[in-house]
Amino acid sequence: MALAAAASAAASVAPPFYGDAPDDTHPWAVHDRHRPLPKVVAPGTFSTQDQPGKPPADAIVLFDGKDLSKWESDKDGGPAKWVVKDGAMEAVAGAGYIRTKEKFGDCQLHVEWAAPTKVEGSGQGRGNSGVFLPGGLEIQVLDNYNNPTYADGTAGAYYGINPPMVNALRPPGEYQVYDIVFRRPVYKDGKVLDPGYVTVFVNGVLVQDHTPLEGPGGHMRRTKAGLFPEKGQIKFQDHGNPVRFRNVWIRELPPRSVEGGTDGALTREAAMAKRKETAAALRAEAAKVRNPGAPLPELLLLMESLAYEAEPATVQKVEQMTGQYLGALKGLEPDKLAGKKDEVKNLNNAFKYLLRFQALPTGFAPAAQVDALIKEQGWDKDKKKK
Ligand code: MG
Repeated sequence: MALAAAASAAASVAPPFYGDAPDDTHPWAVHDRHRPLPKVVAPGTFSTQDQPGKPPADAIVLFDGKDLSKWESDKDGGPAKWVVKDGAMEAVAGAGYIRTKEKFGDCQLHVEWAAPTKVEGSGQGRGNSGVFLPGGLEIQVLDNYNNPTYADGTAGAYYGINPPMVNALRPPGEYQVYDIVFRRPVYKDGKVLDPGYVTVFVNGVLVQDHTPLEGPGGHMRRTKAGLFPEKGQIKFQDHGNPVRFRNVWIRELPPRSVEGGTDGALTREAAMAKRKETAAALRAEAAKVRNPGAPLPELLLLMESLAYEAEPATVQKVEQMTGQYLGALKGLEPDKLAGKKDEVKNLNNAFKYLLRFQALPTGFAPAAQVDALIKEQGWDKDKKKK
């Protein structure tokens, strides 16, 4: 059903037998008409200093300026004891970290924060908070505007591990915008399949570029690559400074190919599994359009399925149906046969495509017969006419 919907939606996008065929690690052809179309997401709006923007339609809003209902105390899971005022939540010294009630895995996280307008303290003591991602790494929140500190503790740092590439902060009191993409490490049988990564933009400026995860990081001590949970809470730090937050939202991300996602280059096993699935759906579609009086739609769908899986029974069926089709053509009067030129050429192109990508054995007899008919009729010589 999904395939049928995708096919009708994509029919205007690309025909079958078009881009390079699926291969060992790509379950889709280039420009594949069966590849699911991206879901439509209404984007949000950007924030101004006075007005927080609107989150994208599929975001989970963690804080919209009104209440802390999505948050709890990190100490005991009780109510979060930060204050909410003027559309922002503000850290309260001694109240402790707060964390989301819900747990998240791979995500895109949007956070806006402002250090106190009144500048107090220096180095790590000025406008310090932090965004803690699942697994415990901190993306540093700190008023580093004209306030140097150690590089790996600068605003936008993967704290203790990797400094931001640049310091793109606005003055204290103004809202800073963090956009974070978090991919946790993926393990299987004790082996790291993907180390995980964090990407961070500060005020639209890239500061962490797909930085590989090494562990939670932290203060003074070299981190150990610990096991990351599949899901964990997002936390904001109480570092004793009244840092404000607003417009906090999160989008969960689809799995990577390494953990069963179907985009990008896949393992051979995963690619073949997806190809078989597409081939089976095409064979089912073919069965639905079966019509002995007009066999081409079924034949072409069966042929298309061969690009995904060269199932021997289907190869045989294609051979048999093509033989019958050609046999019927031979009985036609010359003018009727001439009317079949386009569909025969179309069939020939489909065969050429499948031969080019070794979805059919070289010298496949029906393909040669179709090609011979085209040459016999001189249909290969009138490319410019029509
Ligand atoms: Mg901090």
